Amino acid sequence: MDPKDEIKQKTDIAELIAGYVTLKPAGMASFKGLCPFHAEKTPSFHVSTDKQIWHCFGCSEGGDCFSFLMKIEGMDFPEALRHLGEKVGVEVKRFDSAATNDRQRLIAVNELAARFFRKVLSDSPAAEKARSYVAQRGIPEDLLDKFGIGYAPDSWDTLSLFLAKKGYREGDGEHAGLTQRRKQGSGTIDRFRNRLMIPLRDQHGNTVGFTGRVLLPALTNPQLPNTTSQDGPKYMNTPETALYRKGEILFGLDLAKQAIKRAGYAIVVEGNLDVVASHKAGVENVVASSG
Ligand SMILES: [Zn+2]
Repeated sequence: MDPKDEIKQKTDIAELIAGYVTLKPAGMASFKGLCPFHAEKTPSFHVSTDKQIWHCFGCSEGGDCFSFLMKIEGMDFPEALRHLGEKVGVEVKRFDSAATNDRQRLIAVNELAARFFRKVLSDSPAAEKARSYVAQRGIPEDLLDKFGIGYAPDSWDTLSLFLAKKGYREGDGEHAGLTQRRKQGSGTIDRFRNRLMIPLRDQHGNTVGFTGRVLLPALTNPQLPNTTSQDGPKYMNTPETALYRKGEILFGLDLAKQAIKRAGYAIVVEGNLDVVASHKAGVENVVASSG
């Protein structure tokens, strides 16, 4: 069977849509709810589970599981196909171009690094200072998990060695902006050292880069320059890569989409940690422009 048809057959469209829209039963094999694509007070958005389609009688939008995901997540068709394929266990190979494979590989390296930094922050004896820093900033464990915040140890090659152990080539870490070639000798060294690591994710939640922040108390004077004498810049981002271009990421958007839709507007703050603080206060329709 064509993977597209197989994915469609295995996807429960009502379950998929219920992740975004509160659905109520409306007759046999049918649900309705408030349309996520136009503002309304009376439900005119219908989902038919036997036909596996959705349709809004208010704005005339409609389609299948793929078009729903494309529209609500802003995905293109191959992305929607892969996303649903992963959910229902159908492998999607035929739509992969070489560029998509490179992109997926870079995302995989970034996500592996994010898990590594996260684990170091929560478990490593070398992260004691970082743990007291996040405690002092009042960031609780569940928000560290939600944002995937971690710590890059104060060492030259811990991540480089970890990536090699996991079977990645030196070039992978370099292309992802996580490591750099040694000036002398062979091998690579870690770009981020002794920094709090905040993953930068695209709107679908893929990790495309990092902001590394030095472990210093928040500056009380905002006029001070973005530098500290011995530790390098206060904030250091992943350099431009095939995945990450400065200014293209709205930090926190992957976690804010639903709240923005509900509220009808987004709050833009300056710093990534301001977004975290806002979630802590229960306000989730927030993004930062500094990613
Ligand atoms: Zn509608």
